[in-house]
Amino acid sequence: MENRPTTPGLTATSPAEAEIVSAATEGRLARLSSLMHDWESLDGRAPNIVDSDETARRLVEARLGVASSLFAAMRWKHEPTAQHCLRVALSCSGWSELMGLPDEMRDDLELAALLHDVGKIGVLDSILSKPGALTAQESLIMNCHWLMGEQILRGSCASEAVLDVIRNTRCWFDGTRGDGDRRGEDLPLGSRMLAVVDAFDAMTSDHVYRRAMSVQRAFDELYRCAGTQFDPDMVTVFSKLLEKDPLAMLERASQRWLVTIHPDWVNSQWRRGDLQPSIGGPVSTEALFQQKLVDNMHDGVIFIDAGRKVLAWNRGVERLTGVSGKSVRTHQFVPSLMQLRDEKDQPIAENDCPVAAALRTGVQWSRRLHVGGREGRSAAVDMTASPVADANGTVIGVTLLLHDVTSEISLEERCQTLHDKATKDPLTQAANRAEFDRVSAEFVQAHRETKRPCSLIMTDIDRFKSINDTYGHQAGDQVIQSIAQMMKTFSRAGDLVARYGGEEFALLCADCDNATAAQRAEEIRIAFSMVRHTSLGDRCVTASFGVTEIQPGDTPETLLRRSDRALMQAKETGRNRLVQLGVGGDVREDEAKPTAAASKKRLVGNTLLKREMTSDSPLERNVEKLKGFVADHHADILLTDRNRVQLRLDGEKGGPLFRRGADRSIRLIMDISLHEESFAPENNPRAVFKRTRIAVSISPLKSRERRTADALERARQLVVSLRSYLLAVDVGGVEAVTEEAGGLWHNLVGLFAGGGTNEAQTSAH
Ligand code: GH3
Ligand code: MG
Ligand code: MG
Repeated sequence: MENRPTTPGLTATSPAEAEIVSAATEGRLARLSSLMHDWESLDGRAPNIVDSDETARRLVEARLGVASSLFAAMRWKHEPTAQHCLRVALSCSGWSELMGLPDEMRDDLELAALLHDVGKIGVLDSILSKPGALTAQESLIMNCHWLMGEQILRGSCASEAVLDVIRNTRCWFDGTRGDGDRRGEDLPLGSRMLAVVDAFDAMTSDHVYRRAMSVQRAFDELYRCAGTQFDPDMVTVFSKLLEKDPLAMLERASQRWLVTIHPDWVNSQWRRGDLQPSIGGPVSTEALFQQKLVDNMHDGVIFIDAGRKVLAWNRGVERLTGVSGKSVRTHQFVPSLMQLRDEKDQPIAENDCPVAAALRTGVQWSRRLHVGGREGRSAAVDMTASPVADANGTVIGVTLLLHDVTSEISLEERCQTLHDKATKDPLTQAANRAEFDRVSAEFVQAHRETKRPCSLIMTDIDRFKSINDTYGHQAGDQVIQSIAQMMKTFSRAGDLVARYGGEEFALLCADCDNATAAQRAEEIRIAFSMVRHTSLGDRCVTASFGVTEIQPGDTPETLLRRSDRALMQAKETGRNRLVQLGVGGDVREDEAKPTAAASKKRLVGNTLLKREMTSDSPLERNVEKLKGFVADHHADILLTDRNRVQLRLDGEKGGPLFRRGADRSIRLIMDISLHEESFAPENNPRAVFKRTRIAVSISPLKSRERRTADALERARQLVVSLRSYLLAVDVGGVEAVTEEAGGLWHNLVGLFAGGGTNEAQTSAH
């Protein structure tokens, strides 16, 4: 075996080791070693063995007959490999004789040894002659030489036993490398012998990538790997053998080759003209890579022909099913072969066979199933049967892929359980409050980005306390579950039902405007009011609803506050009804450009910004809307003076626009003045309408407080939100309305003190 070092200890030869090598040259072992390594330099010493190219050629022709052309190809490709093969073959032959193995075994081993590296013909020269260590990819290509060798020999070698010896030489004695099918004594004896001689010769030869190591060191290495890579008995026997007269052993072997064996017999070991047009033939490098990949895949791969015969069954399938590839190759594929069962643990019937389905329909088939594994265990697999068609489109077979999902499932389940615990309310399985907070923030963000409408419905069971008091807590729980179920029934894909508190629920409606949300809330209200609760002796229960839609300037909190305010209004105005607040998202968000004159005018003092806007509704109505704005924004009314309201918004109080922590120091004063004016529309000059002009200015609470970028940003958001609440539009200027501008002035003091809210409100009951 001309394998490159597999252990770090084999990579270098130290000067001390080189000394051992030269010292050993004096002895008998070294004589053999040197003989084996350089047949050209041994002139006269053993002329009948391997003294020259000519001797080598004669030996090879005598032993390989017609197949010596294969050996010649190997020599032209890489001379050191050919030399190595001949040395190994002679050693193996002599060893077989000394062990008294049957002639047939010895003959097979000789052929196997002579040609065990023939696959290196297919390895790139740049790899074979590379002085340094191979990269991972180069090693992969190098390791493919076994496969290539097998393909080369399959076309000409008549002896399956020879191929068997070669195939199993790369297998480790402990079964950890190679096919995995066979290990220990189960490996052919020839393979176990060849593995030892191959490694020994490789270690004691010079290579471009490593100098020859001493015989002693090579034996140390063989012993170190005895029991894992090598058969320990073979290592012992071989080391004893080399203590005797190895030269004589080689002489005997070469004598037999040159003198005793008959060319007819030699040629009879090779096929001529009776090649089966089978799996043999040239194999593309790509095919070799693919084979390597399939062999080493963790997933199971099965190739099945059109007659449902198994062509290939990789190690992945063996692992999953416990069924060896050997035992099923060329058998008919049936679901029971791997005890296929569906998700209900029912065996897959023959007429539901995925392979048959893929063959019949020519369409890929995919499903999660269970396969029976070793010791009664079963494994969940994602099974995909893909039809394979030839150039004419005729389905010639199926590839079956089995992806083991057992570990993924248990991990998925565990993640799901954890996720459920963190996000769901245990009583109703609706989302919990934390999840609601998270998702509503996402909704608001998504709305900002996409401008798609999005609404919130809040509901609270009416007089629930009395239900608890009369029928007990458990009965109450069942009513809570019932409304949760009702909300879920009316929710759509993308919506979120959450339990916000005791008997209060929220339904976040994706892609849904105010009007649609109100309609849906009304449907839920009616449906719930008609449910007869068995736990309450068939009594019906009602609930109240608050509905709102995201609008410009909203934060998750203003959205929630508005819908909660709507819900409170529904309670206050009689329960079992819905109230809808807010103007919705269909409002212009962009601000008007300041007029040229206004742009020139600098803001006075510390003022952060000033806006003037107009709302097409009377002043009184705007005051109602303003109350909503004040409530939802946690604003304090500092003063109401004639037409002017002064609000204070404090980051410390954590109003909806202020970021927790970061904005604590921001304290803003918002001055709002409202001015009602009458006007006649152009198309109807005789009609008189009332509209309200609104002037806003925002400044920091204390004049010495700095105008930070954050404060300015909050001020802007407040204006956007106010505009939404008042359903107003900017009027292209930044000047505040002055009394001198004329018009009607109301005293807001009275209006703010008064009750009654009819801000953009509808109700139903
Ligand atoms: P309203 O119509 O104004 O909503 O009246 P209400 O009685 O429903 O309002 P209130 O908020 O005063 O009472 C709610 C009650 O819900 C109080 C609390 O004992 C009960 N509750 C809260 N959580 C649960 C729960 O998980 N299970 C049960 N059974 N009751 C709960
Ligand atoms: Mg209630
Ligand atoms: Mg309540």
